[in-house]
Amino acid sequence: MSQIDDALPLSALSEIQSRVLDWYAVNRRKLPWRGANDPYAILVSEVMLQQTGVERVAAMYEHFLDAFPTFEALAAAERWQVLRAWAGLGYNRRAVHLHQSARIVVRDHGGKLPSDPTLLRRLPGLGPYTVAAILSFAFQYDVPALDTNVRRVIERLAFGRPVSDATLKATATRLVPAGRSADWNQALMDFGATHCTATNPRCPSCPLADLCAALESDRARAAPTAKKVAERPEPYRGSRRFYRGQIVARLRDLSPEISISADDLLRSLKADPTPADVHWIEELLNELAADGLAQVTRVNGELRVSLPR
Ligand code: SF4
Repeated sequence: MSQIDDALPLSALSEIQSRVLDWYAVNRRKLPWRGANDPYAILVSEVMLQQTGVERVAAMYEHFLDAFPTFEALAAAERWQVLRAWAGLGYNRRAVHLHQSARIVVRDHGGKLPSDPTLLRRLPGLGPYTVAAILSFAFQYDVPALDTNVRRVIERLAFGRPVSDATLKATATRLVPAGRSADWNQALMDFGATHCTATNPRCPSCPLADLCAALESDRARAAPTAKKVAERPEPYRGSRRFYRGQIVARLRDLSPEISISADDLLRSLKADPTPADVHWIEELLNELAADGLAQVTRVNGELRVSLPR
């Protein structure tokens, strides 16, 4: 049996902590948001990273912060400005949520991001992971930030098999070294992203190999294969999300005071639209308007759309 099991002994906890942190000291990724201590900048990076890859966020993050360096600057911006600055990041609703959050922080919290988890959860678009990451990185709470990479590492290392969210969280919480949660969470994220990866964990050169439950039960290599088959993504091109993104991209190219007819927009998306497509584009535009991503008006019976103000 491995040295560690579901109830990690204290000796294993401290050994894992020091080995992971030693690994991180040498192998940490250089990312522009690392070392940030401004809660606003941390919130921006965490919202961007929710659904966009590290490389793309790294290319866009400083540009966004240059455009909107503070909660006040973001809150004062118009929606179309925020959507333009978000270009290239995808999942545009996050830009709307971030903009709404900035306005709430300025209006209700004097421009300071609250450190109370209950208040953070009330901000649009912040789920349990993002709140935990903010608590750790901005406010030094000793909490685990369980993103996909961190979950995988802890599950393999401590259990070697799938466990419930509650079990995983309890073990992850015990593993956080007091006073070093920011380094710890970032270390596990990097370790999962570059060493204990989903499909090709580097077990032979792993500093945790003699402590790892998955390696002992030989599941580290079996699990990713099964997961790969189970998680085959839906095709993106032609999906509803694809067309939502295409519409917002076209609107971004227009001056905010200029609108385009739904008909012209449809013809720019589909070369030979059918009557069903006319209904489809109207539905899509109304959905985008409800999400704060478009402004839809009817002028002389014609549906017209622009960036939201
Ligand atoms: S031994 Fe392999 S599965 Fe275990 S933590 Fe290291 S890389 Fe991951």
